[in-house]
Amino acid sequence: MRLGAHVRTDTDPIGTAEDMGADLLQMFVTDPQDRKMPKPEPHPDTDRIRSSPIDVVVHSSYIINVASLNNRLRMPSRKAVELQAAAAADLGAIGLVVHGGHLGDGEDDAEGFANWRKLFERQADKGGFAVPIFIENTAGGDHAMARTLESIERLWDAVGDFDQAGFCLDTCHAWAGGEDLVGLVERIRDITGRIDLVHLNNSRDEFDSGRDRHANLTDGHIGSEVLVEVARAASAPVILETPAEGVADDLAFLREQLA
Ligand SMILES: [Zn+2]
Repeated sequence: MRLGAHVRTDTDPIGTAEDMGADLLQMFVTDPQDRKMPKPEPHPDTDRIRSSPIDVVVHSSYIINVASLNNRLRMPSRKAVELQAAAAADLGAIGLVVHGGHLGDGEDDAEGFANWRKLFERQADKGGFAVPIFIENTAGGDHAMARTLESIERLWDAVGDFDQAGFCLDTCHAWAGGEDLVGLVERIRDITGRIDLVHLNNSRDEFDSGRDRHANLTDGHIGSEVLVEVARAASAPVILETPAEGVADDLAFLREQLA
């Protein structure tokens, strides 16, 4: 099982991952908060990242919302997924993580799921994305596309026949989103048939809080043994997105527990 962490894009991603003993790293290819979702620039360390034995996965911009019913957000979001997947491929990445997204009050969820389908349908006409898309479950909101098992089921009804639609399970988001982590891997696999990546994070908040605040593995409201069991059951690459000061300890702890 490949274990690693999210690392800063601007300060030697490979060196950082090597220092903590990671097998894979996650990084951005553009400023994740930039509302303009600019075209990614080639990373200065591209050759080193490509040739390193450390695997790479890319996390897309937070602002992306391909489900949105608002054209002025959905259209640039689609383009950003295409461009960030291409940038991920340039780094030799295994996939691009994209949040499930959400709609606004009073909007019809069915249209949001249909928009997810259209993302893959339109790209299939162009030969597909440069890397698979790992759709990540999210913590909050009443109109999220991938918060609850029920919404993930509806999402998979829409995208499940596209090979490039993968799934990223975030444990903090599932907990905060009100899904019991015990047995969750099996319940999700029953729906999606796959888990491509795990974001293994503890939570600073209570179950079903709807809040997205990550904690170090032994330092939140989720029992660390429950988190370890999720990683074991998923048997997929694991990325820690835990507070930076504790992430090396988290990685060492996880390795020891899984050994
Ligand atoms: Zn995550």
